[in-house]
This record gives sequence, structure tokens and C-alpha cells, in this order.
Amino acid sequence: MRVIVALIALVSVASPAYGQRRSGMPDEQIVREAQLVSSGARVDLFEYGVAVDPALVGAAERALARMEELLGSKLDVSTLGPRVRIYVAAGIRVSHVWRGYDHPSDPKAVLFLNPRVAQLALTGANATYAHELAHLLAWRYHSHTLREGLADYLALQVHPGAGVGPNFEGYASPPSVPNEIEAYLGTTRAPPAAVMDDAEFRRAYYYASYRFVRFLIERAGMVTFLKLYGATDPESELVRLYGASRQDLALAAAK
Ligand SMILES: [Zn+2]
Repeated sequence: MRVIVALIALVSVASPAYGQRRSGMPDEQIVREAQLVSSGARVDLFEYGVAVDPALVGAAERALARMEELLGSKLDVSTLGPRVRIYVAAGIRVSHVWRGYDHPSDPKAVLFLNPRVAQLALTGANATYAHELAHLLAWRYHSHTLREGLADYLALQVHPGAGVGPNFEGYASPPSVPNEIEAYLGTTRAPPAAVMDDAEFRRAYYYASYRFVRFLIERAGMVTFLKLYGATDPESELVRLYGASRQDLALAAAK
């Protein structure tokens, strides 16, 4: 057992620091071997190689309820099942949902949290747990930037000013956004490799996605935004719903 844990730690450290497309083996192993800490009405909390405060169950259930209210819809239990499973595991560096960016290929209400992020969730200093829960609530996505931007937006509605995802310090002093990121906002393009292997680029990409989504929601409301979010061709839907081109909207969001 000790050997297995050590091996997992090694695999985790050796994998790309920001890699969402890990082999899958460690997550499956965590799911198999983790210990149940506590259960609430909707959430089961597990720990693996680290002690977790059972109070995270209540925080997660409150965040889910608040974000459902903001979205105007409930968790898709017919696809995801009725219970959300949260695994806090030693060796998880980047918190993520089951299958990471490929979650829609195997949608399950399962997420993995970095232990520090789980701890800071309880003080409201870090909203990453809510970001990951938001991915479950809006699991069917076509645009990766809209997906990440919406998850940050919802998480920061729950915990204004908190750190979130790669932006551990929050957005009080946001990262500067390279021009090339603009070309991804609101498109169905796969995220560039730099999102996985360049920490600074990753922070900027997430911030730009958040800023774009916040701009769209503030401009025309959540109902209109969710029509865009559900569209298979968001670029033409942007024009139809917001009356401006994707490029113009991305520029306006950056002002
Ligand atoms: Zn995310």
C-alpha cells in the first residue's frame, strides 16, 4: 500500500504541472481507495492520504445551491447521478473534474481537489472547489473559454475576491493578457498547449475567459449567456444574441 501511494505521488509530480490529460490511472485509484469522510444531502466527501475537514460537505452544498440559483437550473442528475463525490487527495496538484477537459466524454459528478484548496475553501479564501462544482452544473460545453470563464464567474459570485484555479491570489491585480488569447475567447478552438505547460499563460487564459464571460453576463444577463453557452456554433450565436462580432465583444470585454 505504502509503495502504491509513493508511486502515485511520483506519477503526479512527473506529469505536466498543469496537465489535465493525465493517464487517468491515479484518479481511478483514488476513487477505488479513498475513505469516506462525511455525507450530506447531496455531497459525499472522501479523503486519500490526507485528513479533510468534514465541513467541506456543507460548503459544497451551499455553493451548489447558490450556483443553481444563479444559473436557474439544477444539477443534471439524469446524466450525472444524484450525488456529487468530492475527493481530496494528497498528490493532486491541479484540482479538476473527472476526465478534466474531456469530462463531457464521460460525464460523472466526481471532482478531485488539491488539499490546500480544500482547506482554503472553508475560509472563503479560495473558490476553486466552487469552480469545479460549476463545471458539473454546466457540464455540456462547446467553448472551452466559455466553460472556464463561467466556472470562475459562478465561483466568484459565491466567494467574491477569492483566489481561483491557477489565479491563486485572485483577480485584484489580474495578470496581463497576451493578444493571442483573444483569438480563443468564445470559440470552439481547443486550448493551446501553453495552457498546460506555461503557468503565466495559463493564468492569463483563465483570467481572459472569466473577464469575457463576466462582460457578456453583465451585458445581457444569464439567460442569454446560457443560450450562447449551449450553442454548437458560439461565434455566430454571439452575433445573433449580442449584436456584435466575437472580435468586437472580446475587445470591449478587455477595456
Ligand atoms: Zn475549470
